[in-house]
Amino acid sequence: MISVVIPLYNEEEVLTETHARLSAVMRSVGEAYELIFVNDGSRDKTPEIAAGLCEKDPHARLISFSRNFGHQIAITAGMDYAVGDAVILIDADLQDPPELIPEMIKKWKEGYHVVYGKRIKRNGETAFKKFTAKLYYRFLRRMTDVNIPTDTGDFRLMDRKVCEAMKKLGERNRYVRGLVSWVGFRQYGLEYIREERFAGKTKYPLKKMLRLAMDGITSFSNKPLKLATYMGFFLSGLSFIYLLVVLSQKLFGYPTAWGWASLLAVQLFFNGVMLIMLGIIGTYIGRIYEESKGRPLYIVREEIGFSKKDEN
Ligand code: UDP
Ligand code: MG
Repeated sequence: MISVVIPLYNEEEVLTETHARLSAVMRSVGEAYELIFVNDGSRDKTPEIAAGLCEKDPHARLISFSRNFGHQIAITAGMDYAVGDAVILIDADLQDPPELIPEMIKKWKEGYHVVYGKRIKRNGETAFKKFTAKLYYRFLRRMTDVNIPTDTGDFRLMDRKVCEAMKKLGERNRYVRGLVSWVGFRQYGLEYIREERFAGKTKYPLKKMLRLAMDGITSFSNKPLKLATYMGFFLSGLSFIYLLVVLSQKLFGYPTAWGWASLLAVQLFFNGVMLIMLGIIGTYIGRIYEESKGRPLYIVREEIGFSKKDEN
């Protein structure tokens, strides 16, 4: 059995097409399969359409959240419900071509535990997104001690063993692609071209993208915290040198009353640095707080089609 997890947030325009293309691909593979749709608190017709699909297609199942919990949580829930020997994560908008799945399965059968899609080209995304994404994935690699592959999203196949390992990780702020790297196993990167969205608009506005980017770094690195120490030493050193300059000016009789502007500049600069460092510390404390509350990751409103499990 192979499970395919598809997160949905306001995807009414693409859902039917996605289901058709996924079904065609999965039929061609010739193994038992299930399609797990996770409705992440959509506010359009997505849940109705998905429920309709579940009625007609014995392979389809639907989990509906009580509200929007976010993409990373949606795929986590899908993995919790999946029963397949392999679990595939794929976006609903057909940016990740379902036609790549047979190749992923082939690699899995060759003995790889994780087959992730590596984007060698992105079509139909803004120059800004392409540029920031490229920069970000490289920055992330430098910042973290975990070997997170560059230009890789959540489109991937995972063996049951990987899935079970992932389920043991209880953290709330989930950066799934990083966690998969963290658990290890034999991983293979399959290159592909990321297509344009089939229809609709991105569900990742800049704010959500930034939050995901921050989660990636803070989940896997405490280097930003060390940065405070390094900057502290560096700036103290500089200040000390400047102090010597000022003192010698005084000693050797230079007029010392000038320099109001530079004084103000130094003052403002240091205050800025302090606030940034406080912010970094605050971010980590916030994460400790989130984790310590121990709330469930998501709340399910409705499950459809899971009793059909044994029929396929
Ligand atoms: N998504 C979700 N919850 C959210 C935002 C997005 O489940 O809060 C889903 C969305 O329906 C899609 C996938 O996550 O299947 C990727 O989102 P999108 O294609 O909008 O992101 P992009 O490709 O633009 O980065
Ligand atoms: Mg997309």
